[in-house]
Amino acid sequence: MALKGADILKKLPKTNCKECGFPTCFAFAMKIATGGAKVEDCPHISPESKAELEAELSPPIKLVTIGAGANALVVGEEEVMFRHEKTFFHEPGIAILISDKEAEEEIDRKLKKISGFDFERIGQKLKVNLLALSYDSGEKAKYEALVRKAVETTEMAFVLICCDTDVLFSAAALCAARKPLVYPIGKENLSAAIPRLKELKVPAGVYGKGLDEVIEVASALRNAGIEEMVLDSGPKNMLEGVRDNTLIRRSALKKGFRPLGYPTITFPCFMYKDKLKESLAAAAFMTKYAGIIVLSQPDEHFLLPLLVYRFNIYSDPRRPMTVEEKVYEVSNPDENSPILITTNYALDFFIVSGAIEEAGLPAYLCIKNTEGLGVLASWTSGKFNGEAIAAFFAKYSVEKKVKHRKLIIPGVAKKLKDELEEDLPGWEIVLGPNEASDIPKFLSEEWKQ
Ligand code: SF4
Repeated sequence: MALKGADILKKLPKTNCKECGFPTCFAFAMKIATGGAKVEDCPHISPESKAELEAELSPPIKLVTIGAGANALVVGEEEVMFRHEKTFFHEPGIAILISDKEAEEEIDRKLKKISGFDFERIGQKLKVNLLALSYDSGEKAKYEALVRKAVETTEMAFVLICCDTDVLFSAAALCAARKPLVYPIGKENLSAAIPRLKELKVPAGVYGKGLDEVIEVASALRNAGIEEMVLDSGPKNMLEGVRDNTLIRRSALKKGFRPLGYPTITFPCFMYKDKLKESLAAAAFMTKYAGIIVLSQPDEHFLLPLLVYRFNIYSDPRRPMTVEEKVYEVSNPDENSPILITTNYALDFFIVSGAIEEAGLPAYLCIKNTEGLGVLASWTSGKFNGEAIAAFFAKYSVEKKVKHRKLIIPGVAKKLKDELEEDLPGWEIVLGPNEASDIPKFLSEEWKQ
């Protein structure tokens, strides 16, 4: 729960000495409450008050990093129960399960497919985040060989799943530089695991049979000074998983209950044999608070919808999705190709560029920065009017790209036509269709004439 300025002020020296750069302790406290200053900037606060305030001001759900470098997964630090209250910040990592009992060819196939899986949507790369390497063979050498192979052939981060604590930490030592998540850490192996977790500096995958046991294990790890962990209460199906994830999120955010203030890990791969049910459970866990979701197969028929769903849930509802302002070349246009213009609202861009591609006619697509507003809203606010578009034409030297002087504008922007005829002298302004889906027909009939 957010700390108020008045609560912070109670723990400050209240001498108004100004050494923090603020005129009063009250002003400093208010700034801390909104995240604009740090407790440490007051040189006179007592160590006890400083420690208390820092603990109270730390995020209710800890930020946890699994992996290293560009492929690290960062989860946690969420602030709301529902996306519309603000936004969700760190999308859950998707892990694909690989067992050391699988045939070598199958392991090679999966590793190649997972690490090469890369799909772009609205300028964002959608990908699988983690390999979940499972110890099922009972042979330490076999499991270590799998871990070595994953290190050598991919750059991904790992979840190591192994019920033999010695084997688990031997494998973790092989890939410690990748900062793997080691799972499960539970009541049974807690005392053996704590020194190894500290030594290797790797995050812990806490397992408990139910929330009470999770709290017990997480509290022990916290008391031992281990803060990087994710939680699993062992739900057996989607409903139990949603219930537990919700209780964990609610306890952390609404009650400030620190032992549950961590991201969670869920295993739809172990809950259902039916791939469709597994996929539905994964989608439910994306919506309801999972930090990591482990799936059984890198099957694109299930992965692509899940990745797009995750992308939608974790986009910021306060900001429209946008694309870069520039003149896009669709299918290698030349000096005779049509020029169309629309806004940088991502959906406008993708629908119009897709329609141009469908038309099979190369074209220039001018994308004007309207801060994500659509055609009519941006025209009303002056971001997509005659003057703004004329400035865009000058900035990107649009007239040098073609021999003709015809500009196709969205059909819904009739009033813009008059403005442009004034602001772009010498250009013929052509009203395009109202619906982007009619662009292929429009271009083939109107432009070819
Ligand atoms: Fe108050 Fe500390 Fe700032 Fe001085 S430095 S004004 S004591 S908050």
